[in-house]
Amino acid sequence: MAWQEIEGHDRVVEQFRRALERGRLASSFLFIGPSGIGKRSFAVALARTLLCQARPEAAMDPCGRCTACAQVTAGTHPDLIQVVKPKGKSSLPLELLIGDRDHRMRQGLCYDISLKPFMGGRKIAIIDDADHLNAEGANCLLKTLEEPPPRSVLILIGTSPARQLPTIRSRCQLIRFQPLPEAVAAELLLARGHASDAAEARRLAAHGEGSPERAIELADPALWAFRETLLSQLAAPSLDGLRVARSISAFVDEAGREAPRRRSRLRLVAGFAAEFYRGRLLAHQEAELPQDTTLARFVKEAQDRSSVNVTILSACAERCLDALEQIDRNANQATLVECWMDDLDRIYGGDF
Ligand SMILES: [Zn+2]
Repeated sequence: MAWQEIEGHDRVVEQFRRALERGRLASSFLFIGPSGIGKRSFAVALARTLLCQARPEAAMDPCGRCTACAQVTAGTHPDLIQVVKPKGKSSLPLELLIGDRDHRMRQGLCYDISLKPFMGGRKIAIIDDADHLNAEGANCLLKTLEEPPPRSVLILIGTSPARQLPTIRSRCQLIRFQPLPEAVAAELLLARGHASDAAEARRLAAHGEGSPERAIELADPALWAFRETLLSQLAAPSLDGLRVARSISAFVDEAGREAPRRRSRLRLVAGFAAEFYRGRLLAHQEAELPQDTTLARFVKEAQDRSSVNVTILSACAERCLDALEQIDRNANQATLVECWMDDLDRIYGGDF
């Protein structure tokens, strides 16, 4: 059975169970893994474990019914401090860590965690969006990380070690959360009503890279319609890079102005393109065609129409993977799409 209804992270559960049994829980953790796989839920369940008044923490089995458990679940426990980047801000505001100008070091997470616990024997702080901690914010946290108040636990949550500042990374125990297995992600999607049947749940999970959150974004009919347009453009006898760039940009614009939504759309599009070239490479090597029937159809059409060689196809596939990486690094989206298509044009022309 899943621990605290958290699926797919049994290894991490065991890691904490062992540490608690030995009474050797570290004081600072950096939770790392793709977004939407349950890192935050895990942090809250851990807080429940550490603050529950009915069961010892080493049992890793909070009762769920005592006042402390209920308050942790409701987000109102006085010894649990949670900090999240407000919508629309590009980094975690300093005042959340050390108080506003009038209350420097008299408010905020670093101050709160230094106080004696009100109820339980511990003080716990969860910082979501540690990816968005800037140098100033990290500096403020350093003292807390270097001299953690007794029995305090600080949990930072982020998506990749590379996005964390070295000063933070070196002072926290790194806990890696793996993407969810496809079957687990598919079950979650079905159980939460994001897919109408098991087949759709499997299809979304397969594209979601182990993140149900990412898979939910995929449950958008507009996306699959655009995928057909994109694949037909890529499968055309000759590539019209400028036209493809325009249609990609228009599709990303439809996602609205919010950067994360635009980025995730573009990411999916780059993934579709990479998949197309991978499919063509497989077909070229007379391996099986992709299982996905739409993709298989366009790959076959393209193979029948053109005689592009393996070197060109691998270069195209690689260029699409580069585009994916650039998207993750927050490169300027319009420029990124233009350069990406420009390069594909050049590769088709044999110039690379
Ligand atoms: Zn309890």
